[in-house]
Amino acid sequence: MIEVIKNTLEIIGKMSRSSAGYLIKFNSVESKIISSFGEDEEVYKSFNDSLFQNHNSNKLNQNEIKNLGTFKNLIRDYSWNSFFVKKMISKEKDHKSYYMFLFSKEKENFEEENIYAVTPIINNLISLVKNFDISSEYSKEESSKSLKGLSSFLELKNNKFLKSFFDSSEDLVFILDQNGCFISVNDYGSACLDYEPKELLDTHFIELVASKNKAIMAKSFQKILEEDSSTRLSGGLVTFEAVLISKFGNEIIFQINCKAIREKEKILGLLGVGKNITELRSYEEKITDLNIRLIEANRIISVERQRSKRQGAILAELNKMKNEFISNVSHELRTPLASIIGFSETISSDPNMPEEMRLEFNEIILNEGKRLAKLINDVLDISRLEGGQIELVKSEFDIITLIEDAISANKKIIDSKEIILTKEMPPDNIIINADKEKILVVLNSLINNAAKFTLPKGRIKITAQNLYKELELTISDTGVGIPEKDIPLVFQKFYRVNRPGVDIPGTGLGLVFVKQIVDLHKGFITIQSEVNKGTTVIIKLPRESKV
Ligand code: ATP
Ligand code: MG
Repeated sequence: MIEVIKNTLEIIGKMSRSSAGYLIKFNSVESKIISSFGEDEEVYKSFNDSLFQNHNSNKLNQNEIKNLGTFKNLIRDYSWNSFFVKKMISKEKDHKSYYMFLFSKEKENFEEENIYAVTPIINNLISLVKNFDISSEYSKEESSKSLKGLSSFLELKNNKFLKSFFDSSEDLVFILDQNGCFISVNDYGSACLDYEPKELLDTHFIELVASKNKAIMAKSFQKILEEDSSTRLSGGLVTFEAVLISKFGNEIIFQINCKAIREKEKILGLLGVGKNITELRSYEEKITDLNIRLIEANRIISVERQRSKRQGAILAELNKMKNEFISNVSHELRTPLASIIGFSETISSDPNMPEEMRLEFNEIILNEGKRLAKLINDVLDISRLEGGQIELVKSEFDIITLIEDAISANKKIIDSKEIILTKEMPPDNIIINADKEKILVVLNSLINNAAKFTLPKGRIKITAQNLYKELELTISDTGVGIPEKDIPLVFQKFYRVNRPGVDIPGTGLGLVFVKQIVDLHKGFITIQSEVNKGTTVIIKLPRESKV
């Protein structure tokens, strides 16, 4: 036991509380070595003297073993993590390492770079002290057994069988001493790290570890040395990944299987086999990267698929609308054309036709021709409006005058059906800034509808109100009304409410214009209606007038 300790640390001194923290001094040749550390010899010497009165540096006596108990208590009282290494100084002398530690309980005193270097040594020390029972008599017999174990371990590197294993392995195979320094490493393994095996001897393992990996490494070593229940289950084998830095600064990743070499619970060193998994890791990284890209690509494909599905549905809808439009237009064109052709044929086939009848037929042909021309113009206007080719030509005008114009345009039908038309309008003008010609189209169309769909002697009421920044127009009639289900459809091209047995002329385009013109003016249109009671159309237009 003493020898093991001696071998690791040369001499275990004594630990004591001091204002600087806990000081453990591993001293061999007393003050000479302390001074060779470049520290203030006197400070340590006086400290040393007070602790090591009558101390013989070559042997640990029973008193000194009891001093180990102090350290043991310390380990028991505080977990390892609560110690912070304030300072570590080391020195190589006569092929032996001498260490001196200053411990602190205060984290501020912690010097991070020390922890990695001292962890294996401290762990060794902890395990030695933990295993050491101060109450039992320390026998010479036990001491010689330990010595045997140690020397057999140290002979491992000269073992032929082990040597052939070392030489033939395509892994990094190494033996570390209790301090964590290489005492043997195979050619292949050192070549992986761009070293000659002899260059690695006596190098501390932690020195090869990439700094980002050092804390994890220290933990792994601690696990090996502590040999808790989980490591016992795996036969004391601990597996961990270590990122080592080669001589030329390359990062090499090893998967290391490591096991403590023990002799009767005492740790003699560590045997490790490391598999170079750098390439594997880089492939894994590439695979992960590719997987991420694959997921992204799949996501994009599914988004595109959905989009093309939606576009397909829109195209199908547009195609359907186009077909409907063509069939509607053709149908509407056919009716007047049939009349025109029919009456023209009748006239030309009968030269003796009475003059009166011929005039009547001519009148019909003329009207149907006009209807045809209106239809064609309407269709052209609608396609221009929908194509956004029409711009508003705005001017300021009085809407009341324009309403009167629209009433006059429909005078014939209103009078013929003896419809009573009333108006509710402010006495003054209402000036708005809008496209006069198009607003006239709107008024014409709405008054025409009201007259067309109102029975003789019915009523029409037109109101105009000047609201704040807005003009509100209502055109109400006491006509046939629109069934509720048809109201949202009346703005569609060629839509006409199906009223069996009632034949009111029209192409179903009037309200399409009305809606488009109101929209262009950024206004609103609503229709309220009840069958056989009447219809009210409400339009709101921004006045935009300065007057
Ligand atoms: P066009 O105006 O193109 O000559 P139209 O009057 O039939 O033909 P729209 O003005 O667009 O077409 O009206 C569409 C349909 O809405 C009409 O066919 C009619 O059935 C219904 N409608 C519109 N206004 C009224 C109303 N005041 N009373 C009852 N039904 C109406
Ligand atoms: Mg109409």
